[in-house]
Amino acid sequence: MDSTSTYDDSVSAHDDPVHLGDGAAWRSGARRALATEAVHAGRDDLARQGLHAPPIDLSTTYPSYDSRAEAARIDAFATDGADPAGPPVYGRLGNPTVARFETALARLEGTESAVAFASGMAALSAVLLARTAAGLRHVVAVRPLYGCSDHLLTAGLLGTEVTWTDPAGITDALRPDTGLVLVESPANPTLAELDLRAVAHACGTVPLLADNTFATPVLQRPAEHGARLVLHSATKYLGGHGDVLAGVVACDEEFAGQLRKIRFATGGVLHPLAGYLLLRGLSTLPVRVRAASATAAELARRLAADPRVSRVRYPRLGGAMIAFEVLGDPHEVVSRVGLVTPAVSLGSVDTLIQHPASISHRIVDADDRRGAGVSDRLLRLSVGLEDVEDLWSDLDRALGQGR
Ligand SMILES: *Cc1c(COP(=O)(O)O)cnc(C)c1O
Repeated sequence: MDSTSTYDDSVSAHDDPVHLGDGAAWRSGARRALATEAVHAGRDDLARQGLHAPPIDLSTTYPSYDSRAEAARIDAFATDGADPAGPPVYGRLGNPTVARFETALARLEGTESAVAFASGMAALSAVLLARTAAGLRHVVAVRPLYGCSDHLLTAGLLGTEVTWTDPAGITDALRPDTGLVLVESPANPTLAELDLRAVAHACGTVPLLADNTFATPVLQRPAEHGARLVLHSATKYLGGHGDVLAGVVACDEEFAGQLRKIRFATGGVLHPLAGYLLLRGLSTLPVRVRAASATAAELARRLAADPRVSRVRYPRLGGAMIAFEVLGDPHEVVSRVGLVTPAVSLGSVDTLIQHPASISHRIVDADDRRGAGVSDRLLRLSVGLEDVEDLWSDLDRALGQGR
C-alpha cells in the first residue's frame, strides 16, 4: 500500500472558526464561516426583495431605450472586462443568475472574483487564450493532470507550447514567454498531492493555476497558498448531482476582467439554468464533501487491508476520491459493480468507478500516462453519499476472487 491516511475531521467546513457578528457586521461583508457562505453567498439581496429562492433569468437580451448608456457600458466592458454597471446588456456579456454563482464561489475560494464557463475545459481554454493573447504562449505543467487538460496542452490545440516537469523543476522550466504554471492537487486520477505554497513560490511572478476540482474549497483554498487562478470543473463536486456541465475560474478582479472579455468574444458562456443548479449545489457542498469523505476514508482503510488490492492512494487532505490498483483484471472489477455506477466523471451524490487508462486518461499517450503513475491496473472511485456498508459489500463482490 502506498499512502493511506486517516480522514482528518479537523480539516472540514469547521476549519474557519469566524463567528458572525451583529447585523451591521453582516451587512458590511465581514468574513463568515465557509458553511455559512455556502448557503448565503450570492443570495444576500434576496430577502429584501421579498424572494427566497434565487430567480432564474433566462433572457438573452435586455431592452433599453437609452443607447448612449448602452454605448458607455460596452466601452467600459471593452476596457477592463468589468461587469457592466446597471441592467444587463446581452447574455454573452453576463447573466444575473450566473453572477450569483460566481459571487458565491469567489467567497468560498477567498478570491475577489470568479468567472463561470460552459465546462471545465472551456474555463481552462479561456485562461490559455488570455495568456497567449498577452504574447505568453509557454506553459509549464506538472503531470498527472485530468486527461483532456493534458491533451489540450500536449496537442497545442490553442497554440501553446508546454514543458512538463516535476514540482522541483518548475523554476528552471520558466522562460521569458511563460504565461502560466498549471498543477492539480490532489491530481486526477492518482490523487498525488503537491505542496501548493512551495509550488507558488517556485513560480515567481508567473501566475499559478491550481485545479481544485478534487479538493473543493471545503478542503483546500489554493488562493490562500499563493495560486493566482483556481480552476474547477464545476461539473463535479460544485454541482454535485451529475446533472450540470460547467467550469469556473476564481481569481483576482484584474484577471477576471480578461477572462470575461475572452468569454464574451469566444462564447463559452454558462447557461443560466446551470448557474442556478450550481448555486443550489454550493449550499450543500460542505455537508456533501464531509459526509462522502468520511465514507471514503473508511473504504480506503478496508481496501488497503484487502489482499486483492495491491495499492491504495487516499489524500492526506481527505476527500471523497480513492485511487487503487487491483491484483486481478480491473476491467472485470468494473464489469461486476452493481450499486456503484461504472461511469467516468466524479463528485456526484452517487458512487462512480472508472478505469482511467481506458476512459478519463485514454487520450493521453500511453507512455506519458504510465510515466505519470497512471498504471493500467489503476481504478478511480468517486465515493458518494450511500451507506458505507452497502458500498463495501458491492466493492467486495466486484473484487471477486482477486484474479
Ligand atoms: C473533469 C475535469 C476537468 C474538465 O472539466 P469538464 O467540466 O468536464 O470540462 C478538468 N479538471 C479536472 C481535475 C477534472 O476532473
